[in-house]
Amino acid sequence: MIWGVRDLSPWYDNKVAGDPIGEVWLSGDSSVVDTGPLTGKTLATVFQEHQEDLLGPTLHAQERFPLLMKVLFPQEKLSVQVHPGDAMAREHGEPHGKTECWYALDAKPGATVALGLHPGTTLAEVEASIENNTMEALLESVPIRKGEMIFVDAGTVHAIFPGVVVLETQQNSDMTYRLYDYGRPRELHLKDGLQAIRLHTDAGTVEPKPEPGDDTQAGSVRRELLVQSKYFRVDRTRFAEGNVTVKFSLPVRRQSQTGSVQLIFVAAGAGELHSNGEAPMHLRRGELAVVPACTADWSMTSSEPMEILRAVSE
Ligand SMILES: [Zn+2]
Repeated sequence: MIWGVRDLSPWYDNKVAGDPIGEVWLSGDSSVVDTGPLTGKTLATVFQEHQEDLLGPTLHAQERFPLLMKVLFPQEKLSVQVHPGDAMAREHGEPHGKTECWYALDAKPGATVALGLHPGTTLAEVEASIENNTMEALLESVPIRKGEMIFVDAGTVHAIFPGVVVLETQQNSDMTYRLYDYGRPRELHLKDGLQAIRLHTDAGTVEPKPEPGDDTQAGSVRRELLVQSKYFRVDRTRFAEGNVTVKFSLPVRRQSQTGSVQLIFVAAGAGELHSNGEAPMHLRRGELAVVPACTADWSMTSSEPMEILRAVSE
C-alpha cells in the first residue's frame, strides 16, 4: 500500500525493502492457523470444512467468514472513501456491505481521522469538491487517542490519517469506493461512491460502557463494551497484573440464539487462553485467537498486565 510502512515493529517482526505494508490481516481468508489440529490450514479452508462448528448452526449458510480484523499502519493519508450498505452491496452481487470500527492501538498527540461530512453538506457539493480537489474541506475531523474506539457505519465518508496504529473490525467485505485521493493517481469510483454516501450516519467516537462480567476480581480486571452494532460486538478486558484469570462466555444476547464465533486480539501484554480439553494457547501482543462457536466458554490468564479486545459476530 502506498500509504504504509516498511517496518512493523514493535507490533510485528516484518521489515520490507520494497513496497510499504499498510495492513496486517488477522482473520482474512488466507490467514493461517498456527496451533492445534488444524495447523497450516487457511481460515477460508477451515470455514469451508467446519462452518457449523465455527459459526454455530446458523439458519442460512454464509458465503464467507463473517468478520475481518486487521491492523492498519498509515504513514500517509488513506484515500477518502465510503463503503456500501448491505442493500447496495447485493445490487453489485456481493453478500454484504461493510460497517467497520477502529480501535486506536496507538496514537500520536493530535492525531485525527476524517469521519463524515460537515452538517448541511450536499451531494452536489461533494461532487464539485472532488472535481476541484478541495474535498478535505468538507470532512469532519475527529481526534483519536490511544484506547479510543470509533464506529464507522456503511455509508459514512471517511479517511484514516498518519499518526495512529488502528485495529479495524469489519464485516468481511472488500467493497470500497475511493472518492478522493489528494491528487494521487489512483483510480476513483465516483458513481458508485456517490451512491453509497449517506449524509447522516451513526459514526463517531464511542464511550466504553463498564460491564461487571461474571467473575471480575475487584480492581484487577476491567471489562467494557466498546461497540454493539447489527453486525458485531466488540468488548475490551484489561488485566492490571499477571496471573489473573477471567472466564468468558458468549454475550447473553448470543447464547439464546445459535452461538457465534469470537475473535480475541491481544492489544497489550501476554497471556494464556484455556478452553476445555485443549492445550493452553499462548498469546502475545498483536496476535489473534479464533474461538469457534463450538467452544462457547473459555478463559484467559494474564502473564503480565494485559489488554484484549474481543469481537463477536452478530
Ligand atoms: Zn473503511
